[in-house]
Amino acid sequence: MTRRVNRRDFVLTSAAGLAAAAATPRTLFGQGPTMMTPRSVKPIVVSSANGHRFKNGGTKTCVETAFEGIVRGDDVLDSLIAGVNIVELDPEDTSVGYGGLPNADGVVQLDSCCMHGPKKQAGGVACLEGVRTPSRVAKAVMEQTDHHLIVGKGAQDFARNMGFTIEADLNTDRSRQIWLEWKRRTDPEHYLDPRKREEVERKVMREMIEEGLVDENHLYGTINCDGISPKGEICGVTTTSGLAWKIPGRVGDSPILGAGLYVDGAVGAAGSTGRGEANLYNLCSFMIVEGMRRGLAPKDAGMEALRRIQANTVEKRLLNGRGLPNFGINFYVINARGEHAGVGMYSNDRLKFAVCDENGARLEPIEPLLPGNPED
Ligand code: ASP
Repeated sequence: MTRRVNRRDFVLTSAAGLAAAAATPRTLFGQGPTMMTPRSVKPIVVSSANGHRFKNGGTKTCVETAFEGIVRGDDVLDSLIAGVNIVELDPEDTSVGYGGLPNADGVVQLDSCCMHGPKKQAGGVACLEGVRTPSRVAKAVMEQTDHHLIVGKGAQDFARNMGFTIEADLNTDRSRQIWLEWKRRTDPEHYLDPRKREEVERKVMREMIEEGLVDENHLYGTINCDGISPKGEICGVTTTSGLAWKIPGRVGDSPILGAGLYVDGAVGAAGSTGRGEANLYNLCSFMIVEGMRRGLAPKDAGMEALRRIQANTVEKRLLNGRGLPNFGINFYVINARGEHAGVGMYSNDRLKFAVCDENGARLEPIEPLLPGNPED
């Protein structure tokens, strides 16, 4: 039976330590808006692997920067956004912000959202052109407007009015060259039978990965970063250039609350990278947070969402030879006790996620739902 926590019960629970809290998950994670989080948690930041890969010429990665801010006592969301800004600004990461792989017309269009657990506020932008750091514009939407999501030209106009620099083109030489190569290979005649075109596109993507022209993590690539402070304040942010070569105007899961990111300040946070359409059909970040509210551990809640995606993937074009989903999708999860998980539909030796806590920053393996590879 679920029992509500009053302040006195909660103090007793805290005093008995986190072990006691773990023994009463329903008490801490029951339904309802009046839940309270433990007073003292070991802070942690988790993110997709690029959060501990890129430094934009500096000395620290995203998760190191975010963790440092959180333990210093800075606002958790500000700390996470300072972290992802490193990846957004680094031209070497071709899946996020400046230098992100462009859409089919060669235009870089960016999506982002952020969510502040304690403040219960969120903001997002989609199809934003010309601003290197869409996560900051998402935060401006959260703080300066009554809205959650602003898209396209409206998002750019909003950003300009908020004082952001608008650039004519966020391509780097590298992202433009890779797009040109894709165009040359997939559209030599301008018009192809759509089915043939899909086959050609899949083949070309595989070739370009094998030839080392495209990082397989950056076709679907994004950064999601979630953190919790010692006071139990939980926030998250997701930012991306979306699916490489997407149809102009396509919006993925990243800026959509409940899909690319969801935070409940009393329960936990979840965010995603990978095939956005599969996530959008199932709103997995919301589902994961709700799973944790019911008492599931982060890993189990993540696996539940992956199983839902698997069950809802029935179109033949999305299935491999084994009848399993032929795409990758990952979730990064923390709960209000500071426990974490990184799970994916598939994994391999190279698929990792980033963690930073009192033991330092590291990459940990993604735990897979299914064996083998998406393409098998
Ligand atoms: N999920 C993102 C999207 O579908 C892309 C990604 O993570 O690679 O836009």
